[in-house]
Amino acid sequence: MNFTGLTGQIQFDPQKDLIHPAYDVLNVVGTGLRTIGYWSNYSGLSVITPEVLYTKPANTSTSNQHLYNAIWPGETTKRPRGWVFPNNGKPLRIAVPFRVTFEEFVKKDKGPAGGDGKRNPSFNSIVNDVAQNKYDAAVGDIAITTNRTRIVDFTQPYMESGLVVVAPVKETKSSPWAFFKPFTIQMWGVTGVFFLFVGSVVWILEHRMNPEFRGPPRKQLITVFWLVLLTATTSRETRIRENTLSTLGRCVLIFWLFVVLIINSSYTASLTSILTVQQLSAGITGIDSLISSPDPIGVQDGSFAFNYLIDELHVPKSQLRIIKSEAEYVSALQQGPKGGGVAAIVDELPYVELFCLIANAYSGLKQIEAEGVLCLSPCDDAQAIWSTQRLILTVFGQAFQRDSPLAIDLSTAILQLSENGELQRIHDKWLSNNECSSQNNQVDDTVLSLSSFWGLYVICGGACAVSLVVFICKVYCQFLRYDPETEEPEISEPESARSSRRSLTVRVASRT
Ligand code: GLU
Repeated sequence: MNFTGLTGQIQFDPQKDLIHPAYDVLNVVGTGLRTIGYWSNYSGLSVITPEVLYTKPANTSTSNQHLYNAIWPGETTKRPRGWVFPNNGKPLRIAVPFRVTFEEFVKKDKGPAGGDGKRNPSFNSIVNDVAQNKYDAAVGDIAITTNRTRIVDFTQPYMESGLVVVAPVKETKSSPWAFFKPFTIQMWGVTGVFFLFVGSVVWILEHRMNPEFRGPPRKQLITVFWLVLLTATTSRETRIRENTLSTLGRCVLIFWLFVVLIINSSYTASLTSILTVQQLSAGITGIDSLISSPDPIGVQDGSFAFNYLIDELHVPKSQLRIIKSEAEYVSALQQGPKGGGVAAIVDELPYVELFCLIANAYSGLKQIEAEGVLCLSPCDDAQAIWSTQRLILTVFGQAFQRDSPLAIDLSTAILQLSENGELQRIHDKWLSNNECSSQNNQVDDTVLSLSSFWGLYVICGGACAVSLVVFICKVYCQFLRYDPETEEPEISEPESARSSRRSLTVRVASRT
Protein backbone atom coordinates (compact mmCIF):
# COMPACT_ATOMS: atom_id res chain seq x y z
CA MET A 1 0.00 0.00 0.00
CA ASN A 2 1.41 3.39 -0.85
CA PHE A 3 -0.80 6.43 -1.03
CA THR A 4 -1.17 9.97 0.30
CA GLY A 5 -4.07 10.15 2.74
CA LEU A 6 -5.53 12.87 4.89
CA THR A 7 -2.66 12.52 7.41
CA GLY A 8 0.09 12.27 4.76
CA GLN A 9 2.03 9.47 3.13
CA ILE A 10 0.82 5.94 4.13
CA GLN A 11 3.32 3.18 3.50
CA PHE A 12 4.37 0.11 5.53
CA ASP A 13 7.67 -1.71 5.86
CA PRO A 14 7.96 -5.55 5.72
CA GLN A 15 7.38 -5.63 9.54
CA LYS A 16 4.04 -3.90 8.87
CA ASP A 17 5.20 -0.74 10.69
CA LEU A 18 4.28 2.58 9.21
CA ILE A 19 7.14 4.18 7.35
CA HIS A 20 7.89 7.74 8.52
CA PRO A 21 5.09 8.07 11.03
CA ALA A 22 4.73 11.70 11.99
CA TYR A 23 2.35 13.80 14.08
CA ASP A 24 1.56 17.44 14.73
CA VAL A 25 1.82 18.34 18.44
CA LEU A 26 -1.18 20.47 19.30
CA ASN A 27 -1.74 22.70 22.26
CA VAL A 28 -5.43 22.89 23.16
CA VAL A 29 -6.14 26.36 24.52
CA GLY A 30 -9.72 26.78 25.58
CA THR A 31 -11.64 25.72 22.50
CA GLY A 32 -8.85 26.57 20.03
CA LEU A 33 -5.77 24.66 18.84
CA ARG A 34 -2.17 25.72 18.44
CA THR A 35 0.54 23.69 16.71
CA ILE A 36 3.62 23.84 18.88
CA GLY A 37 5.76 21.32 16.98
CA TYR A 38 5.98 17.85 15.42
CA TRP A 39 6.91 14.33 16.30
CA SER A 40 8.36 11.76 13.96
CA ASN A 41 10.20 8.51 14.61
CA TYR A 42 13.00 9.89 12.42
CA SER A 43 14.14 12.67 14.75
CA GLY A 44 11.67 12.85 17.65
CA LEU A 45 10.12 16.13 18.83
CA SER A 46 10.98 19.23 16.85
CA VAL A 47 9.63 22.54 15.69
CA ILE A 48 10.67 21.81 12.09
CA THR A 49 8.32 19.77 9.91
CA PRO A 50 9.32 16.08 9.39
CA GLU A 51 9.39 16.59 5.61
CA VAL A 52 12.26 19.07 6.02
CA LEU A 53 14.00 16.78 8.54
CA TYR A 54 13.87 13.76 6.21
CA THR A 55 16.15 15.64 3.84
CA LYS A 56 18.76 15.96 6.62
CA PRO A 57 20.60 13.28 8.57
CA ALA A 58 18.55 12.02 11.54
CA ASN A 59 19.30 13.72 14.89
CA THR A 60 17.58 12.33 17.96
CA SER A 61 19.90 13.93 20.57
CA THR A 62 17.97 15.29 23.56
CA SER A 63 19.28 18.81 23.07
CA ASN A 64 17.42 18.89 19.78
CA GLN A 65 14.13 17.76 21.25
CA HIS A 66 12.06 20.84 21.75
CA LEU A 67 8.68 22.34 21.05
CA TYR A 68 7.26 25.84 21.16
CA ASN A 69 5.99 26.90 24.58
CA ALA A 70 2.66 25.39 25.51
CA ILE A 71 -0.05 27.43 27.12
CA TRP A 72 -1.22 25.45 30.16
CA PRO A 73 -4.59 25.56 31.88
CA GLY A 74 -4.70 28.79 33.85
CA GLU A 75 -3.34 30.73 30.85
CA THR A 76 0.22 30.20 31.94
CA THR A 77 3.34 29.20 30.01
CA LYS A 78 4.97 27.95 33.23
CA ARG A 79 5.21 24.20 33.13
CA PRO A 80 3.22 22.45 35.89
CA ARG A 81 5.27 20.45 38.30
CA GLY A 82 3.04 17.41 37.87
CA TRP A 83 1.92 14.98 40.50
CA VAL A 84 3.39 11.64 41.27
CA PHE A 85 0.65 9.63 42.92
CA PRO A 86 1.82 7.03 45.35
CA ASN A 87 -0.62 4.42 44.13
CA ASN A 88 -0.46 5.08 40.45
CA GLY A 89 -3.69 4.90 38.57
CA LYS A 90 -5.89 4.30 41.61
CA PRO A 91 -8.29 7.07 42.54
CA LEU A 92 -7.37 8.91 45.72
CA ARG A 93 -9.22 7.85 48.86
CA ILE A 94 -10.09 11.03 50.72
CA ALA A 95 -11.96 10.69 54.01
CA VAL A 96 -14.26 13.39 55.34
CA PRO A 97 -15.54 13.39 58.89
CA PHE A 98 -19.18 12.32 58.88
CA ARG A 99 -20.24 15.00 61.33
CA VAL A 100 -23.42 14.96 63.35
CA THR A 101 -23.04 18.28 65.13
CA PHE A 102 -22.23 21.51 63.30
CA GLU A 103 -22.61 20.06 59.85
CA GLU A 104 -21.83 23.52 58.48
CA PHE A 105 -18.14 22.60 58.65
CA VAL A 106 -18.24 19.51 56.53
CA LYS A 107 -21.02 17.41 55.10
CA LYS A 108 -20.76 13.98 53.59
CA ASP A 109 -22.18 13.06 50.19
CA LYS A 110 -21.10 9.79 48.59
CA GLY A 111 -17.72 8.19 49.06
CA PRO A 112 -15.67 7.29 52.06
CA ALA A 113 -16.29 9.03 55.33
CA GLY A 114 -15.03 8.69 58.86
CA GLY A 115 -17.93 7.96 61.16
CA ASP A 116 -21.32 6.25 61.10
CA GLY A 117 -23.52 9.35 60.89
CA LYS A 118 -24.98 8.66 64.32
CA ARG A 119 -22.17 10.14 66.36
CA ASN A 120 -19.31 12.44 65.47
CA PRO A 121 -16.35 10.33 64.40
CA SER A 122 -13.23 10.22 66.48
CA PHE A 123 -10.97 12.64 64.69
CA ASN A 124 -7.95 10.91 66.15
CA SER A 125 -8.92 7.66 64.49
CA ILE A 126 -9.51 9.37 61.13
CA VAL A 127 -5.98 10.73 61.32
CA ASN A 128 -4.72 7.29 62.37
CA ASP A 129 -6.45 5.74 59.37
CA VAL A 130 -4.62 8.14 57.06
CA ALA A 131 -1.33 7.26 58.71
CA GLN A 132 -2.11 3.53 58.30
CA ASN A 133 -2.76 3.98 54.55
CA LYS A 134 -6.48 3.29 54.85
CA TYR A 135 -7.02 6.69 53.23
CA ASP A 136 -4.66 8.87 51.22
CA ALA A 137 -5.88 11.98 52.97
CA ALA A 138 -8.56 13.38 55.26
CA VAL A 139 -10.09 16.77 54.70
CA GLY A 140 -12.30 18.71 57.04
CA ASP A 141 -12.20 20.47 60.37
CA ILE A 142 -9.22 18.56 61.65
CA ALA A 143 -7.31 20.28 64.39
CA ILE A 144 -3.56 20.24 63.93
CA THR A 145 -2.19 18.90 67.19
CA THR A 146 1.27 17.70 68.14
CA ASN A 147 0.28 14.05 68.43
CA ARG A 148 -1.29 14.13 64.99
CA THR A 149 1.62 15.87 63.26
CA ARG A 150 3.81 12.99 64.46
CA ILE A 151 2.01 10.55 62.17
CA VAL A 152 0.67 12.56 59.21
CA ASP A 153 1.54 15.66 57.20
CA PHE A 154 -0.83 18.59 57.49
CA THR A 155 -1.50 21.28 54.95
CA GLN A 156 -1.14 24.92 55.90
CA PRO A 157 -3.98 25.87 58.25
CA TYR A 158 -7.15 27.19 56.72
CA MET A 159 -8.88 28.27 59.91
CA GLU A 160 -7.83 29.56 63.28
CA SER A 161 -8.99 27.56 66.26
CA GLY A 162 -8.19 26.88 69.91
CA LEU A 163 -9.92 25.61 73.00
CA VAL A 164 -12.27 27.92 74.84
CA VAL A 165 -14.63 27.47 77.74
CA VAL A 166 -18.32 28.06 77.12
CA ALA A 167 -20.48 28.65 80.15
CA PRO A 168 -24.00 29.99 80.47
CA VAL A 169 -24.53 33.41 81.97
CA LYS A 170 -26.83 33.05 84.89
CA GLU A 171 -29.15 35.80 85.94
CA THR A 172 -27.03 37.00 88.81
CA LYS A 173 -29.09 39.11 91.15
CA SER A 174 -26.70 41.70 92.47
CA SER A 175 -26.97 41.86 96.22
CA PRO A 176 -28.64 44.90 97.78
CA TRP A 177 -25.66 44.98 100.14
CA ALA A 178 -23.16 45.04 97.31
CA PHE A 179 -21.99 48.49 98.39
CA PHE A 180 -20.43 46.90 101.48
CA LYS A 181 -18.43 44.44 99.43
CA PRO A 182 -15.56 46.62 98.23
CA PHE A 183 -14.22 46.71 101.79
CA THR A 184 -13.66 43.89 104.22
CA ILE A 185 -15.17 44.09 107.70
CA GLN A 186 -11.78 45.06 109.11
CA MET A 187 -11.49 47.83 106.54
CA TRP A 188 -14.89 49.20 107.43
CA GLY A 189 -14.01 48.90 111.13
CA VAL A 190 -10.70 50.68 110.75
CA THR A 191 -12.30 53.44 108.68
CA GLY A 192 -14.91 53.96 111.39
CA VAL A 193 -12.31 53.95 114.14
CA PHE A 194 -10.21 56.46 112.22
CA PHE A 195 -13.23 58.65 111.78
CA LEU A 196 -13.68 58.76 115.56
CA PHE A 197 -9.98 59.12 116.15
CA VAL A 198 -9.54 62.06 113.78
CA GLY A 199 -12.62 63.65 115.27
CA SER A 200 -11.17 63.35 118.76
CA VAL A 201 -7.80 64.72 117.68
CA VAL A 202 -9.41 67.70 115.97
CA TRP A 203 -11.43 68.32 119.11
CA ILE A 204 -8.35 68.21 121.34
CA LEU A 205 -6.54 70.57 119.01
CA GLU A 206 -9.35 73.03 118.58
CA HIS A 207 -11.19 72.88 121.90
CA ARG A 208 -9.06 75.40 123.77
CA MET A 209 -8.83 78.22 121.27
CA ASN A 210 -11.79 77.75 118.88
CA PRO A 211 -15.08 79.14 120.27
CA GLU A 212 -16.94 76.85 117.93
CA PHE A 213 -15.66 73.82 119.79
CA ARG A 214 -16.95 75.15 123.10
CA GLY A 215 -20.30 74.85 124.74
CA PRO A 216 -22.19 71.85 126.03
CA PRO A 217 -20.40 68.50 125.34
CA ARG A 218 -23.19 67.31 123.08
CA LYS A 219 -22.85 70.39 120.89
CA GLN A 220 -19.09 69.97 120.73
CA LEU A 221 -19.38 66.34 119.80
CA ILE A 222 -21.77 67.15 116.98
CA THR A 223 -19.58 70.00 115.68
CA VAL A 224 -16.44 67.81 115.61
CA PHE A 225 -17.91 64.80 113.90
CA TRP A 226 -19.96 66.88 111.52
CA LEU A 227 -16.77 68.60 110.48
CA VAL A 228 -14.83 65.35 110.05
CA LEU A 229 -17.67 63.78 108.14
CA LEU A 230 -18.08 66.74 105.82
CA THR A 231 -14.35 66.76 105.24
CA ALA A 232 -14.75 63.22 104.05
CA THR A 233 -17.52 64.05 101.67
CA THR A 234 -18.16 67.53 100.25
CA SER A 235 -16.68 71.03 100.16
CA ARG A 236 -13.59 69.91 101.92
CA GLU A 237 -11.53 73.03 101.48
CA THR A 238 -14.36 75.30 102.65
CA ARG A 239 -14.83 73.27 105.79
CA ILE A 240 -11.18 73.41 106.63
CA ARG A 241 -10.91 77.14 106.07
CA GLU A 242 -14.09 78.10 107.84
CA ASN A 243 -14.26 75.74 110.77
CA THR A 244 -10.73 75.07 111.93
CA LEU A 245 -8.65 77.93 112.90
CA SER A 246 -5.47 76.34 114.18
CA THR A 247 -2.75 75.26 111.82
CA LEU A 248 -2.43 71.93 113.58
CA GLY A 249 -6.06 71.23 113.09
CA ARG A 250 -5.76 72.04 109.41
CA CYS A 251 -2.78 69.70 109.12
CA VAL A 252 -4.73 66.85 110.64
CA LEU A 253 -7.64 67.47 108.32
CA ILE A 254 -5.41 67.70 105.27
CA PHE A 255 -4.08 64.21 106.04
CA TRP A 256 -7.54 62.92 106.72
CA LEU A 257 -8.62 64.46 103.46
CA PHE A 258 -5.87 62.58 101.63
CA VAL A 259 -6.81 59.27 103.27
CA VAL A 260 -10.42 59.84 102.39
CA LEU A 261 -9.53 60.73 98.80
CA ILE A 262 -7.72 57.43 98.29
CA ILE A 263 -10.34 55.38 100.08
CA ASN A 264 -13.05 57.10 98.12
CA SER A 265 -11.58 56.40 94.69
CA SER A 266 -10.62 52.80 95.56
CA TYR A 267 -14.11 52.21 96.82
CA THR A 268 -15.60 53.57 93.61
CA ALA A 269 -13.36 51.48 91.40
CA SER A 270 -13.86 48.33 93.40
CA LEU A 271 -17.62 48.72 93.58
CA THR A 272 -17.80 49.26 89.84
CA SER A 273 -15.84 46.12 89.13
CA ILE A 274 -17.83 44.07 91.62
CA LEU A 275 -21.14 45.10 90.14
CA THR A 276 -20.11 44.61 86.53
CA VAL A 277 -17.96 41.47 86.83
CA GLN A 278 -20.71 39.74 88.75
CA GLN A 279 -22.99 39.85 85.77
CA LEU A 280 -20.39 38.36 83.47
CA SER A 281 -18.73 35.57 85.36
CA ALA A 282 -21.54 33.27 86.46
CA GLY A 283 -19.28 31.58 88.98
CA ILE A 284 -16.74 30.39 86.43
CA THR A 285 -13.79 32.65 86.20
CA GLY A 286 -11.59 30.45 84.05
CA ILE A 287 -10.38 26.95 83.42
CA ASP A 288 -8.78 26.68 86.87
CA SER A 289 -11.99 27.29 88.75
CA LEU A 290 -13.74 24.90 86.40
CA ILE A 291 -11.26 22.09 86.96
CA SER A 292 -11.07 22.57 90.71
CA SER A 293 -14.83 22.21 91.07
CA PRO A 294 -16.28 18.69 90.83
CA ASP A 295 -18.96 19.81 88.37
CA PRO A 296 -19.10 17.97 85.04
CA ILE A 297 -17.36 19.50 82.03
CA GLY A 298 -18.76 18.91 78.56
CA VAL A 299 -16.61 17.97 75.56
CA GLN A 300 -17.81 17.59 72.00
CA ASP A 301 -17.95 14.02 70.75
CA GLY A 302 -14.84 13.00 68.84
CA SER A 303 -12.80 16.04 69.77
CA PHE A 304 -9.16 16.02 70.76
CA ALA A 305 -10.21 18.17 73.73
CA PHE A 306 -11.19 14.98 75.60
CA ASN A 307 -7.63 13.64 75.63
CA TYR A 308 -6.19 17.10 76.12
CA LEU A 309 -8.20 17.66 79.30
CA ILE A 310 -7.26 14.25 80.71
CA ASP A 311 -3.59 14.18 79.71
CA GLU A 312 -2.56 17.81 80.01
CA LEU A 313 -4.93 19.31 82.55
CA HIS A 314 -5.36 16.09 84.58
CA VAL A 315 -9.13 16.28 84.68
CA PRO A 316 -10.58 12.95 85.89
CA LYS A 317 -12.31 11.04 83.09
CA SER A 318 -15.43 10.75 85.22
CA GLN A 319 -15.78 14.53 85.28
CA LEU A 320 -16.02 14.76 81.50
CA ARG A 321 -19.29 14.42 79.67
CA ILE A 322 -19.44 13.75 75.95
CA ILE A 323 -21.82 16.06 74.12
CA LYS A 324 -23.25 14.20 71.16
CA SER A 325 -25.66 16.61 69.53
CA GLU A 326 -26.33 20.32 69.18
CA ALA A 327 -29.52 19.95 71.21
CA GLU A 328 -27.51 18.32 73.98
CA TYR A 329 -24.99 21.15 73.73
CA VAL A 330 -27.76 23.58 74.57
CA SER A 331 -29.61 21.50 77.15
CA ALA A 332 -26.44 20.58 79.06
CA LEU A 333 -25.59 24.27 79.39
CA GLN A 334 -29.14 25.23 80.27
CA GLN A 335 -29.57 22.57 82.93
CA GLY A 336 -26.29 23.36 84.61
CA PRO A 337 -24.42 20.98 86.92
CA LYS A 338 -27.29 20.80 89.44
CA GLY A 339 -29.90 19.89 86.85
CA GLY A 340 -27.90 17.04 85.33
CA GLY A 341 -26.11 19.20 82.76
CA VAL A 342 -22.60 20.60 82.76
CA ALA A 343 -20.94 23.61 84.35
CA ALA A 344 -19.25 24.49 81.06
CA ILE A 345 -18.20 23.02 77.74
CA VAL A 346 -14.61 23.04 76.57
CA ASP A 347 -14.65 23.22 72.80
CA GLU A 348 -12.86 24.66 69.84
CA LEU A 349 -13.47 28.26 68.90
CA PRO A 350 -15.03 27.77 65.43
CA TYR A 351 -17.75 25.52 66.88
CA VAL A 352 -18.40 28.03 69.63
CA GLU A 353 -18.61 30.81 67.06
CA LEU A 354 -21.18 28.83 65.16
CA PHE A 355 -22.96 27.83 68.34
CA CYS A 356 -23.24 31.48 69.32
CA LEU A 357 -24.82 32.18 65.96
CA ILE A 358 -27.42 29.48 66.31
CA ALA A 359 -27.89 29.71 70.08
CA ASN A 360 -30.53 32.31 69.65
CA ALA A 361 -32.67 29.81 67.84
CA TYR A 362 -32.98 27.89 71.08
CA SER A 363 -35.31 29.85 73.27
CA GLY A 364 -34.25 30.56 76.78
CA LEU A 365 -30.56 30.47 76.06
CA LYS A 366 -30.01 34.04 75.12
CA GLN A 367 -26.68 34.53 76.72
CA ILE A 368 -23.72 32.30 76.57
CA GLU A 369 -20.41 33.23 77.94
CA ALA A 370 -17.08 31.67 77.35
CA GLU A 371 -13.67 32.52 78.53
CA GLY A 372 -12.63 34.98 75.92
CA VAL A 373 -15.93 34.60 74.15
CA LEU A 374 -19.16 36.17 75.03
CA CYS A 375 -22.22 35.70 72.90
CA LEU A 376 -25.16 37.84 73.67
CA SER A 377 -28.23 38.78 71.80
CA PRO A 378 -28.68 42.52 72.08
CA CYS A 379 -30.35 42.89 68.71
CA ASP A 380 -32.33 39.71 69.09
CA ASP A 381 -29.74 37.87 67.10
CA ALA A 382 -26.73 36.18 68.49
CA GLN A 383 -23.94 38.66 69.00
CA ALA A 384 -20.38 37.81 69.69
CA ILE A 385 -17.66 39.70 71.41
CA TRP A 386 -14.37 38.01 70.83
CA SER A 387 -11.12 38.21 72.58
CA THR A 388 -8.04 36.10 72.24
CA GLN A 389 -7.98 34.23 75.52
CA ARG A 390 -7.76 30.54 74.75
CA LEU A 391 -6.58 27.51 76.65
CA ILE A 392 -4.48 26.50 73.68
CA LEU A 393 -4.21 27.80 70.17
CA THR A 394 -4.77 25.36 67.34
CA VAL A 395 -5.70 25.55 63.70
CA PHE A 396 -7.61 23.41 61.25
CA GLY A 397 -5.86 21.75 58.35
CA GLN A 398 -6.12 18.76 56.04
CA ALA A 399 -4.26 15.56 56.89
CA PHE A 400 -2.15 13.73 54.28
CA GLN A 401 0.07 10.72 54.43
CA ARG A 402 3.65 11.46 55.30
CA ASP A 403 5.60 13.11 52.44
CA SER A 404 2.58 13.27 50.18
CA PRO A 405 3.27 15.79 47.38
CA LEU A 406 -0.43 16.62 47.37
CA ALA A 407 -0.12 18.27 50.79
CA ILE A 408 2.22 20.88 49.31
CA ASP A 409 -0.12 21.66 46.44
CA LEU A 410 -3.09 21.95 48.76
CA SER A 411 -1.07 24.15 51.09
CA THR A 412 -0.25 26.45 48.20
CA ALA A 413 -3.89 26.58 47.21
CA ILE A 414 -4.95 27.34 50.80
CA LEU A 415 -2.35 30.08 51.09
CA GLN A 416 -3.58 31.60 47.85
CA LEU A 417 -7.14 31.58 49.18
CA SER A 418 -5.90 33.15 52.36
CA GLU A 419 -3.94 35.84 50.55
CA ASN A 420 -6.73 36.86 48.24
CA GLY A 421 -9.16 37.14 51.13
CA GLU A 422 -11.34 34.25 50.05
CA LEU A 423 -10.84 32.34 53.32
CA GLN A 424 -11.98 35.35 55.30
CA ARG A 425 -15.05 35.69 53.09
CA ILE A 426 -15.91 32.03 53.62
CA HIS A 427 -15.48 32.49 57.37
CA ASP A 428 -17.67 35.58 57.41
CA LYS A 429 -20.33 33.92 55.33
CA TRP A 430 -20.65 30.89 57.57
CA LEU A 431 -19.54 31.99 60.97
CA SER A 432 -20.43 35.58 61.59
CA ASN A 433 -23.57 37.50 61.84
CA ASN A 434 -23.22 40.36 59.42
CA GLU A 435 -26.52 42.11 59.96
CA CYS A 436 -25.87 42.64 63.59
CA SER A 437 -22.15 43.16 63.76
CA SER A 438 -22.20 46.88 63.18
CA GLN A 439 -24.69 47.83 65.82
CA ASN A 440 -25.01 47.32 69.54
CA ASN A 441 -21.53 46.10 70.10
CA GLN A 442 -21.66 47.34 73.61
CA VAL A 443 -23.60 45.27 76.04
CA ASP A 444 -25.31 47.14 78.81
CA ASP A 445 -23.40 45.35 81.50
CA THR A 446 -22.39 48.49 83.31
CA VAL A 447 -25.90 49.74 83.88
CA LEU A 448 -26.40 49.41 87.60
CA SER A 449 -29.88 48.64 88.77
CA LEU A 450 -31.70 49.96 91.79
CA SER A 451 -31.57 46.50 93.30
CA SER A 452 -27.89 47.02 94.03
CA PHE A 453 -28.51 50.12 96.05
CA TRP A 454 -31.73 49.74 97.93
CA GLY A 455 -29.82 48.92 101.12
CA LEU A 456 -28.20 52.32 100.90
CA TYR A 457 -31.51 54.01 100.34
CA VAL A 458 -33.07 52.12 103.24
CA ILE A 459 -30.33 53.33 105.58
CA CYS A 460 -30.60 56.89 104.35
CA GLY A 461 -34.39 56.84 104.40
CA GLY A 462 -34.37 55.20 107.82
CA ALA A 463 -32.10 57.91 109.20
CA CYS A 464 -34.41 60.57 107.78
CA ALA A 465 -37.44 58.85 109.26
CA VAL A 466 -35.83 58.46 112.69
CA SER A 467 -34.78 62.15 112.63
CA LEU A 468 -38.31 63.14 111.67
CA VAL A 469 -39.82 61.03 114.47
CA VAL A 470 -37.40 62.50 117.01
CA PHE A 471 -38.15 66.00 115.73
CA ILE A 472 -41.89 65.45 115.91
CA CYS A 473 -41.58 63.97 119.44
CA LYS A 474 -39.61 66.99 120.56
CA VAL A 475 -42.06 69.46 119.08
CA TYR A 476 -44.86 67.50 120.67
CA CYS A 477 -43.13 67.55 124.09
CA GLN A 478 -42.60 71.30 123.77
CA PHE A 479 -46.21 71.69 122.83
CA LEU A 480 -47.28 69.75 125.93
CA ARG A 481 -45.03 71.88 128.16
CA TYR A 482 -46.22 75.11 126.57
CA ASP A 483 -48.26 77.27 128.91
CA PRO A 484 -49.88 80.14 126.99
CA GLU A 485 -50.45 82.16 130.18
CA THR A 486 -46.80 82.35 131.30
CA GLU A 487 -44.96 82.47 128.00
CA GLU A 488 -45.08 84.54 124.91
CA PRO A 489 -46.71 82.58 122.05
CA GLU A 490 -43.46 81.82 120.31
CA ILE A 491 -42.70 78.52 118.68
CA SER A 492 -39.07 77.90 119.52
CA GLU A 493 -36.76 76.49 116.96
CA PRO A 494 -35.69 72.92 117.74
CA GLU A 495 -32.27 72.66 119.27
CA SER A 496 -31.03 70.12 116.77
CA ALA A 497 -31.90 72.32 113.83
CA ARG A 498 -30.11 75.24 115.39
CA SER A 499 -27.01 73.29 116.22
CA SER A 500 -26.68 71.92 112.76
CA ARG A 501 -27.04 75.38 111.29
CA ARG A 502 -24.35 76.58 113.65
CA SER A 503 -22.01 73.97 112.44
CA LEU A 504 -22.76 74.69 108.85
CA THR A 505 -22.06 78.40 108.91
CA VAL A 506 -19.38 79.94 110.99
CA ARG A 507 -21.02 83.33 111.33
CA VAL A 508 -24.30 81.93 112.48
CA ALA A 509 -22.45 79.59 114.80
CA SER A 510 -20.46 82.36 116.43
CA ARG A 511 -23.55 84.50 116.95
CA THR A 512 -25.43 81.72 118.72
N1 GLU B 1 -11.96 19.49 65.25
C1 GLU B 1 -11.94 18.51 66.28
C2 GLU B 1 -10.73 17.66 66.20
O1 GLU B 1 -10.04 17.75 65.23
C3 GLU B 1 -13.16 17.64 66.31
C4 GLU B 1 -14.36 18.34 66.79
C5 GLU B 1 -15.58 17.46 66.91
O2 GLU B 1 -15.57 16.54 67.72
O3 GLU B 1 -16.55 17.71 66.25
O4 GLU B 1 -10.44 16.89 67.10
